[in-house]
Amino acid sequence: MKTPRLLLALFLLCASCSACRPDERLAPVGHGGSAPGDAGAEPDATEGGAEGDLFARLPEIAPTATGRRGAAATVDLRGTLAAIEILKRGGNAVDAAVAAAGVLGVTDPFSCGIGGGGFMLVYLAGEDEVIALDHRETAPSRLEARSFYEDGAPIAFNELVTSGLSVGVPGTVRGWSEALRRHGTLGLGDVLKRAIQVAEAGFDVDQTFLDQTRRNLARFQAITSSKALFLGPGGEPWPVGTIFKNPDLAGTYRLIAEGGEKAFYEGRVAEAIVAAVKSPPVEPGSALDVRAGVIELSDLQGYEARVRPALSTTYRDYTLYGLGLPSSGGIAVAEALNLLEGYDAATLTPVEVLHRYLGASRLAFADRGAFLGDPEFVDAPVKGLLSKDYADARRALIDLAEAPSAAAPPGDPYAFQSDPSPAPGRAPAASGGDAGPRDASDNETTHITVSDAAGNIVSYTCTIEYEGGNGIVVPGYGFLLNNELTDFNIPPDPSSPHPNAVEPGKRPRSSMSPTIVFKDGKPVLALGSPGGSTIITTVLQILVGHIDLGLPIDSALAAPRVSQRNSGDGATDAETAFLSTPEAEGLASLGHVLSDAGTMGGEIGAATALRFNGDGTVTAVAEPVRRHGGSAMVEQER
Ligand code: GLU
Repeated sequence: MKTPRLLLALFLLCASCSACRPDERLAPVGHGGSAPGDAGAEPDATEGGAEGDLFARLPEIAPTATGRRGAAATVDLRGTLAAIEILKRGGNAVDAAVAAAGVLGVTDPFSCGIGGGGFMLVYLAGEDEVIALDHRETAPSRLEARSFYEDGAPIAFNELVTSGLSVGVPGTVRGWSEALRRHGTLGLGDVLKRAIQVAEAGFDVDQTFLDQTRRNLARFQAITSSKALFLGPGGEPWPVGTIFKNPDLAGTYRLIAEGGEKAFYEGRVAEAIVAAVKSPPVEPGSALDVRAGVIELSDLQGYEARVRPALSTTYRDYTLYGLGLPSSGGIAVAEALNLLEGYDAATLTPVEVLHRYLGASRLAFADRGAFLGDPEFVDAPVKGLLSKDYADARRALIDLAEAPSAAAPPGDPYAFQSDPSPAPGRAPAASGGDAGPRDASDNETTHITVSDAAGNIVSYTCTIEYEGGNGIVVPGYGFLLNNELTDFNIPPDPSSPHPNAVEPGKRPRSSMSPTIVFKDGKPVLALGSPGGSTIITTVLQILVGHIDLGLPIDSALAAPRVSQRNSGDGATDAETAFLSTPEAEGLASLGHVLSDAGTMGGEIGAATALRFNGDGTVTAVAEPVRRHGGSAMVEQER
């Protein structure tokens, strides 16, 4: 890696020097101003200054690509291209994943960015090891359970979202830095160069960006810094085709590129975050009640990412690795798969397979709601939940002839592990199951999958939680803050114990489920999805579709989704497209009540995946339709 690393550094240096930067006079001033179809929508062909600059002429966006060496799939063409660019210049999958995430922070700022956090799962081919890098946002040291209550009642979810109170200490920059330091070949300064260029030169607003801005319109109009960045004259969204620039974010990335993570967690960026949380920049006269939060500079300075062992389980002939706590994703996926393993899929119809998938997911969600929380605060019965014997006992609760009409209670996983109850002083498990504080459709979060020629794989889900996070751009720094703390459970009574209750310094339970699948000791699949708690069901449905129903991976990703998360009335969410399938009819005849997810925004799970084929090729897959389609590319086409 030594020589390519040097070449890459030289190339990136060239790409960012003033002689090679596009002539700024040619680009429209500010965030917009060009008409749709304006020539300025294409990046300057001189960008990069070197022959072979992948961004000089953007390729057509494609949701699948098969080839050799490395591969990448993200929700956005420039994000994928940034990863492929790094791979082609000799960087590894970790370098490429961080480069892609940096660009997505610019082009997909409502889903992810340095104001948020995430979970990165990495397969290190040299070591034949999978590690998990938790850079989940964390509750500030002065936040208490009572902070989320007023007059004895919980503050409404939608009010908490747009507030300083719901902002967790951001983990992304520390996560990127740790990932690169431990497993990358490049530094932050190198991998952020393309993101800086895209933020400065701008990119054309597409329909997804416009839709996302529209859905955030009321709160962006109420927050001065968000209005200045994301809205045009008259406080309206920029139309499709506008060149959107974010020089403030470019400046923040430059500070990080030059000063490392400290430039974010200490000094003027940290001070600006604290100010935005404690004194949200609300438009004078706005009717929006934006509550202040309690982050201190010491919270930012003290933030730590965590390297955790990846969670491992088996399903039929496969070994899966995923994220353990504080994400519930890996555990819930594993438990549901253990339940499904008891059925011979080859003898079942697709409707029978889906019926069992929904039943397994319902039981897994009952346990997820009752037992899971930050492992540094809660002794969760993970061993019991993952035990095959537990699944064997619990499988009997899946009625093969009829769909349930009520929520399932949690089981007793403690009986299936040697340590039978929570250790003294730790939060006890709650007695009731729930699907979590909120269940939304897929308008937030993003998943990046990248592999390199050496066989390293990164499956990385990153987020600022809600679409547009808490709606507050840090003034002068160009990024939205997260509202991740709304992922805590907020029971009617603040003193009722719950493993996912608010506590200072705690990480809220997540659903993010980056996954890497092996067969016969070799990686065969890497995948993940956005979508709140539907992340779990999306990953599960893709695995069931691919492994049990034999769908090619691109079809499994594209398939209309159906999602059961142990809702109180037994109802199951389905995408509108699912409702007109023969499977929907078959499920209805078994008593399933399918609610149209279209009423909550329509889409569930714009996932991405990589399939490592038996002939040595790799197939990168992004979403063909959801979020107007993602981008998949390979380093070397066949
Ligand atoms: N906050 C969610 C989680 O950690 C991710 C955001 C989303 O996709 O809704 O599970």
